[in-house]
Amino acid sequence: MSIGRHGVYEARLDGVDPAVLRAASRVCPFSDDALNEDDLTRQLFPQLPTDGRVGAHLDVFAGRRTSERELVGSSSGGLTSLILADLLDSGVVDGVLHVGRSTGDPRFSYTISTSSGQVDHSRKSMYSATTMADVVAEIRGDGKTYAVVGVPCFIKALRLVADEMPELDEQLQVYVGLVCGHLKSTFFGESLAWQAGVPPRELESIDFRVKNPERSSGDYDYAVVRRGDSEPRVRRTASAIDGSWGYGAFQPEACNFCDDIFAESADVAFADAWLPQYQSDWRGTNVVVVRDDRVRDLLLAAQRRDAIHLEPLSVDEAAQSQAGNFRHRRMGLAVRLADDRRHGLSVPTKRVAPDRRAATRRRTAVIRQRRRMSRLSLEAFAAAREAGDFEIYASPMRRAIRRYWLLDAAARGIAPFARVLAHRGLRIARRALGR
Ligand SMILES: Cc1cc2nc3c(=O)[nH]c(=O)nc-3n(C[C@H](O)[C@H](O)[C@H](O)COP(=O)(O)OP(=O)(O)OC[C@H]3O[C@@H](n4cnc5c(N)ncnc54)[C@H](O)[C@@H]3O)c2cc1C
Repeated sequence: MSIGRHGVYEARLDGVDPAVLRAASRVCPFSDDALNEDDLTRQLFPQLPTDGRVGAHLDVFAGRRTSERELVGSSSGGLTSLILADLLDSGVVDGVLHVGRSTGDPRFSYTISTSSGQVDHSRKSMYSATTMADVVAEIRGDGKTYAVVGVPCFIKALRLVADEMPELDEQLQVYVGLVCGHLKSTFFGESLAWQAGVPPRELESIDFRVKNPERSSGDYDYAVVRRGDSEPRVRRTASAIDGSWGYGAFQPEACNFCDDIFAESADVAFADAWLPQYQSDWRGTNVVVVRDDRVRDLLLAAQRRDAIHLEPLSVDEAAQSQAGNFRHRRMGLAVRLADDRRHGLSVPTKRVAPDRRAATRRRTAVIRQRRRMSRLSLEAFAAAREAGDFEIYASPMRRAIRRYWLLDAAARGIAPFARVLAHRGLRIARRALGR
């Protein structure tokens, strides 16, 4: 596995034994040779009720840590890092495989934590391409047990790998999923940093999720440290040209073919509670879909010792918290599959059928424009990086975003110019307020 031109890990397959290739095809989360999420759910959670959106569910909660310091140092409600620490402290596992930061290197990589202190060191969401290859090779056969954290396709891949390798299956005890809108190439962090005045080569580190007490939880900041600087530069994510997830900036092509939002093969999935009743609290809240008794017991024990607040949530509310995500992964997926088939391209078999008419004509135009923007961002940023000129990326991206806004306004039935003016007005107001 190595980082390709677009800042995404790619497998080099030349010279690989055909038997190994066949095995790889069985464990690739996007391959037709692999089980799909419904097959895995039936295999893993046969006793649980299932829902077409959130998958199998034993319990669904909204929750957060009670310690203000811990909460502010996490992405959402801080329950992911809490459960990882509790899995270690209670002896359910000996170690945790999760993504962390390395000192002096702005890239993120999978790391192995064996104490709650180490888990605490790698909190928050790391929106970057990574690979599990090294850590899985490192732990394989070491006689210890692990919990693993990942976005849905990583969790699915590892479940399938474990199916092929009984010794690894014994070791991987708990799968912790992070709900995912799409993965980001390594360019995302570099672009945000460049917009804060730090070009890629001078980037020391980035924190994608800095909470701001003056705003709602979804309107967070990011912090960038330039090599040699001691103080971070903090900027509002929404002020970056590619800060909105709706634009699909730096999204790898594979995400266009994903229909798993709630990490359906994980024992537990954690999300941001993007619901009005929770978003108004800047400190952040999790939505949690539990599928495993051990995880539920640990959460309830944490609630009893007042380490966390938990409240029941309905399946509908959990799904509602990811409404845009579902539009992209279900309705949008149907359109993309049909588009590619019409162009004679091979597409994987998904749980969503190809359908050019899944969305209205105007919404379909938005779906196609977002896909163009993902490709454009990857291509143009690669060129900008090579030339050391951010505008090579920023100017075509700004044009594409303007077009996206017009199409989106039309799809929503809002007069296009009113939408653009409202957007401009908002930016001017933000600038005037210095935010
Ligand atoms: C690429 C990506 C896209 C996401 N998209 C959405 C979305 O659309 N909607 C939504 O509700 N939530 C999304 N999330 C999840 C959300 O950002 C939070 O990570 C989640 O709510 C957990 O928050 P927390 O406060 O409980 O985590 P914390 O307590 O801060 O702990 C986070 C834990 O996750 C680990 N981690 C962070 N990034 C990664 C990674 N890339 N791979 C593996 N482990 C990692 C850390 O090492 C840490 O242990 C996304 C996350 C990622 C990484």
